[in-house]
Amino acid sequence: MKIAVCGAGAAGAYAVKRLRLNLPEAEILLFDAAPVGFYAKMRLPEYLAGTLPREKLILSSPEQMADWGVGLHLGEPVTSIDPASHKLATVAGEYAWDVLVLAVGAHAFVPPVPGLAASSRVHVLRELPDADALVALCEREPETTAAVIGGGLLGLEAAWSLRKRGLAVSIVETAPRLLPLQMNEEESAALLASFTNAGFKVHTGASADRFDEASAQLFLKDGTAVPASLVLVSAGIRANLELAKNAGLACSRGIVVDAALRTSAPDVYAVGDCAELNGTVTGLWLASKDQGEAVADIIAGKLDAMPPKTYRPKPKLPAF
Ligand SMILES: Cc1cc2nc3c(=O)[nH]c(=O)nc-3n(C[C@H](O)[C@H](O)[C@H](O)COP(=O)(O)OP(=O)(O)OC[C@H]3O[C@@H](n4cnc5c(N)ncnc54)[C@H](O)[C@@H]3O)c2cc1C
Repeated sequence: MKIAVCGAGAAGAYAVKRLRLNLPEAEILLFDAAPVGFYAKMRLPEYLAGTLPREKLILSSPEQMADWGVGLHLGEPVTSIDPASHKLATVAGEYAWDVLVLAVGAHAFVPPVPGLAASSRVHVLRELPDADALVALCEREPETTAAVIGGGLLGLEAAWSLRKRGLAVSIVETAPRLLPLQMNEEESAALLASFTNAGFKVHTGASADRFDEASAQLFLKDGTAVPASLVLVSAGIRANLELAKNAGLACSRGIVVDAALRTSAPDVYAVGDCAELNGTVTGLWLASKDQGEAVADIIAGKLDAMPPKTYRPKPKLPAF
């Protein structure tokens, strides 16, 4: 059997490791658009803060992945998949497969606020190169004023990281208080107080109206001008659907899969942040790992369906 896995993040990497164990005779191909290897995405805020060295992010370097016993194609984006002919194309060539696993993850959503899309001063924190760019900017321009759009868990973590680098940081959050889904009013007020005491300017119940790069200001809908020579957008993620949509696979918020992680095309599975299971794109590391391992067991005939599980992300906000 020839199995192709697209994406070497948590979902793809754990799928490949388990497939190798389950099916020693199978030929396994692993493709990833990035050349960096397998790394701990959820620790990017610590690297950005300067509290975790870059090398500690790497869970498996490309050299270590070469020992996984698979055909490794890092830095080789998959450009199209064809479920009918059981082939995929990359920037380098064409490959046949019997079973295909899509583990292509998600990207950071940037809302259509005027001035954001066109500016090189607007960043996201999703991939290692995003963090590298932000670290370089903080080191090059320590006087930078930053506005973080989105005061969810990731936005607050990223804001803290920038503050730890010495930047003056404002946070813009549309909800009337911080983390309304994770905290009650009292906890939320205590969190706001600790952010304010640590020197952040927090704007709750506020939305960004436009970014003016020339004057380094982010204007809010109520007219407030927030100093911002850097804008970091943390407004949620969107599943990477392009490959699946172009191939005619059923997609909604993610690539729609059934309980056995099967897409609408025969022999094509989807796992992790790109997959929508039971109407949900989970967007969590452990869920991606579990789905990756489950798909490997399903393909090997050891499991019928993804075991139901509830994931509760724990706020891991730093103490000030
Ligand atoms: C800053 C940050 C903090 C986080 N904190 C937490 C946390 O505290 N707790 C938690 O549970 N989760 C957290 N997460 C979420 C968690 O990291 C993700 O849910 C998880 O990494 C998803 O894994 P994945 O393999 O599905 O996708 P990804 O990790 O996005 O991997 C997808 C891979 O596919 C590759 N790819 C995409 N398109 C193609 C293509 N066309 N061809 C080839 N390769 C392609 C990409 O290069 C990428 O390597 C955090 C995420 C971020 C960014």
